[in-house]
Amino acid sequence: MPSYDYRCNNCGRSFVLFYKSFKDYDPDAEHTCPHCQSVDVARRIRRVAIQKPGRDMSQLSSNEMLNVFNTGDSKEIGKMFKQVSDTAGGDLGSTYNEATSRLLKGESMDSVERDLSSRESAASSDTD
Ligand SMILES: [Zn+2]
Repeated sequence: MPSYDYRCNNCGRSFVLFYKSFKDYDPDAEHTCPHCQSVDVARRIRRVAIQKPGRDMSQLSSNEMLNVFNTGDSKEIGKMFKQVSDTAGGDLGSTYNEATSRLLKGESMDSVERDLSSRESAASSDTD
């Protein structure tokens, strides 16, 4: 689930908005500060240092996972997916597995998400 950091220019406080998927994020939409209801807010780009290779990403907290997502680094996200999957016994579903392998090849999260979510809604009538 994508999340975006915002900072309110009026009261100076930070907040995070969550979206169900990348396609729900509208960069032109007006956002309101939850603290003072000002619409004078600015998106912050988080700069997250990617940890050294070999780190066990399956042990990340959900916040740390969001940070990995926010880097937009497909291969890092893919590695995280893979480790989470391995920890779960590799049984997180074909969509998950496909997303993982495509991310590992460097395809953008945006593109993978868009593609797979449209396919999921198309196939939702005949679920297992
Ligand atoms: Zn505010």
